[in-house]
Amino acid sequence: MGPEPPDEPVTPAEIPSRWWRCCTCGGTGSDSYGTTCEHCDGLGFC
Ligand SMILES: [Zn+2]
Ligand SMILES: [Zn+2]
Repeated sequence: MGPEPPDEPVTPAEIPSRWWRCCTCGGTGSDSYGTTCEHCDGLGFC
């Protein structure tokens, strides 16, 4: 028998990369023309 830990909100171990996906290319790294996204420089997130 011991003290029960207080209820704490469970924090995600890691943030899904889709959360940071580029708002211009949608995370693909290239725009609709197939060229490197200038907003994220092809990284897919910004
Ligand atoms: Zn963006
Ligand atoms: Zn982009």
